[in-house]
Amino acid sequence: MAHKGLLLVLSGPSGVGKGTVKNAIVKNKVFPFEYSVSMTTRKPRPGEVDGKDYFFVSEQRFQEAINQGELLEYNEYVGHHYGTPVGPVKKMLAEGKDVLIETDVNGARTVREKMPDGVFIFLTPPDLHTLHLRLEHRGTESEDVIMGRIREARKEILVMQDYDYAVVNDTVANAVDHIKAIVDAEHVSVKRV
Ligand code: 5GP
Repeated sequence: MAHKGLLLVLSGPSGVGKGTVKNAIVKNKVFPFEYSVSMTTRKPRPGEVDGKDYFFVSEQRFQEAINQGELLEYNEYVGHHYGTPVGPVKKMLAEGKDVLIETDVNGARTVREKMPDGVFIFLTPPDLHTLHLRLEHRGTESEDVIMGRIREARKEILVMQDYDYAVVNDTVANAVDHIKAIVDAEHVSVKRV
């Protein structure tokens, strides 16, 4: 029987550092996996590359993707749409590759309903104050957007108990080490034989 890859879902509040942790995993090739590039209607930030960080699309294209059933999950977040294209995820898993998805907690809930075999990892900030500072530090968001994101974060932290694992993002290196340990453990879990 062909070995099916692991679906790794990295979630948690915005600003907790999912993107940074994910980029560190990609850059350092911490373990072999394919990254699922999301579709979004928000504009690229400086340095972001279309097709690598996100597929940056129009609202019209995003609605078309929803209508055509192209998305495993999607969500509106602080005025923009984000979604996970389903085709590449299923294809890579069938090929036996591990696939990493980054999504907000609403998206993760949908993925869990559709693909309960996934490994759901919740990245937490050491505390909300740190989260605020990190968002301010990024300097790309207005105060209104920051407050909107913090309100979301408070709600999101409550949903942590639905996850398989919680990883504190105190330092990126620690978070990456913990995620690697989780992936290694899942590969030898007897629940998956
Ligand atoms: P950002 O604009 O900071 O890149 O992302 C905003 C939020 O959208 C973050 O919480 C990020 O994890 C989430 N996000 C990124 N990709 C997806 C996706 O494919 N689906 C969903 N539901 N959320 C996503």
